[in-house]
Amino acid sequence: MTENKVTTSHPKGLYVLFATEMWERFNYYGMRAILVLFMTKALLFDKVFASQLYGSYTGLIYLTPLLGGYIADRYWGNKRSILMGGIVMALGEFILFFCGALYHSSPELSSLLFFSGLGCMIAGNGFFKPNISSLVGQLYAKGDKRIDAAYTIFYMGINVGGAIGPIICGLVGDTGNPADFKWAFLAGGIAMLISVVTLKLLHDKFVVDVEGKTLGLTPDNAPVKLLQPLAIIGGLILISLTTIGLVYVDAKIFSYLFYLLIACILLIAYIVFSDKNLTGLEKQKIGVIFTVSFFVIFFWSAFEQAGASLTFFAEEQTQRDLGFFVVPTSFFQSLNSIFVVTLAPLFAWLWLQLGKRNAEPSSPFKMAAGLFLLALGYLWIAFGVKDVQPSIKVSMIWLTGMYAMHTSGELCLSPIGLSLVNKLAPIKFASLLMAVWFTANAFANKLAGVLSALYPDGKTTYVIGFPITNLYDFFMMFVVMAGVAAVILFFLASKLKKMMD
Ligand code: GLN
Repeated sequence: MTENKVTTSHPKGLYVLFATEMWERFNYYGMRAILVLFMTKALLFDKVFASQLYGSYTGLIYLTPLLGGYIADRYWGNKRSILMGGIVMALGEFILFFCGALYHSSPELSSLLFFSGLGCMIAGNGFFKPNISSLVGQLYAKGDKRIDAAYTIFYMGINVGGAIGPIICGLVGDTGNPADFKWAFLAGGIAMLISVVTLKLLHDKFVVDVEGKTLGLTPDNAPVKLLQPLAIIGGLILISLTTIGLVYVDAKIFSYLFYLLIACILLIAYIVFSDKNLTGLEKQKIGVIFTVSFFVIFFWSAFEQAGASLTFFAEEQTQRDLGFFVVPTSFFQSLNSIFVVTLAPLFAWLWLQLGKRNAEPSSPFKMAAGLFLLALGYLWIAFGVKDVQPSIKVSMIWLTGMYAMHTSGELCLSPIGLSLVNKLAPIKFASLLMAVWFTANAFANKLAGVLSALYPDGKTTYVIGFPITNLYDFFMMFVVMAGVAAVILFFLASKLKKMMD
């Protein structure tokens, strides 16, 4: 009994980080739930441009954590970085609130506000996300068996926020009247402030290491000059202005993001593989990290359609009228998180049972299964829309079933991929190889925007020679993409496993 208590209880700090992350994800996913709707219904962007901008925005969201992690490690520490990032994100939401209030009366100003709000969200997220994730592990001694469970609990926090955010923001903002979208941004901003205040009040007392020392404080050798309030505020303004420019240029002027991301990956590969001190075995393991990171691109680029093409589909082609209540389109974006919370225990149980029988699949095999489930989800919805005329709305069961399958895929691939990178990376390159994983995510999100732009809106587009004229073709594109990636990874799985051992 006592032993059980010792091994399963967690430090209070975990719950502080849980709550902080929950409110932040409420803000992020609540805003994302209405983002393309706001773009197409209030700002009157067409679906192609809204999709591309969605890709630029979410792509950069996954790129800036590289910078935020770097600055925290060397200059600011985790705590300051999270608080500053949170404030910048809240500011982003408030700017978007004004954008949503003014889009009708002052379109020019609101366009400026829109890109500024997005840029602040990108900059703030870069400081918030990597630092809160890294604090979770620091609560425990190295090698503590509870760390995996801690990250699972933390992942629940992410998804409780991801489930509630779209519902609350949808209720206040996605009402059918475009003038109401601003309330969703306001709700997101308030959630972000709750997150910041929670951490500010509770961090020093509870977010402590095993010896009771507060975590995430300023690194010992950080230059004092860079810690002056003026330097910090100046730095944040500079970085936010840069991210505002980056999202604007990629969406409106020249789509450079793919090239930048490829350059990042090549640079990291060069740094790592040219290191003469690495053994052949270490290089092999790093090879596995690069390989699985490549395959996850096919997963996330299809999965992250949730915030773009699948939202268009929910809005226009899904029967959402229950008679007594019309389900807001944005609600569908909470399904993924709802399924994570409900299905995660099932997968934990499954791996445990298979483990007991010595039949637990290898990590690359599980990731291939994740891709396969994703393909299956798209096959399900493709079946649902086959031969359906564009004017007909289909049952909610198609989207809901698809999200259940996508989430099952996520549970096979995402936590496993993350811990694989952690386990295989040599200590000296731990952060840099985590960056490879994030960069693959960034690439996938940017690609998600490009693919969402192919959404059949009475037009025919071509993908490597294949025409996409209707929703069936569109969804089948993802079946083929994820299906082929799954098959290749299945065949590579045993080779990758050998390289890992
Ligand atoms: N939904 C998770 C989060 O928001 C994971 C997303 C991802 O890794 N692409 O943190």
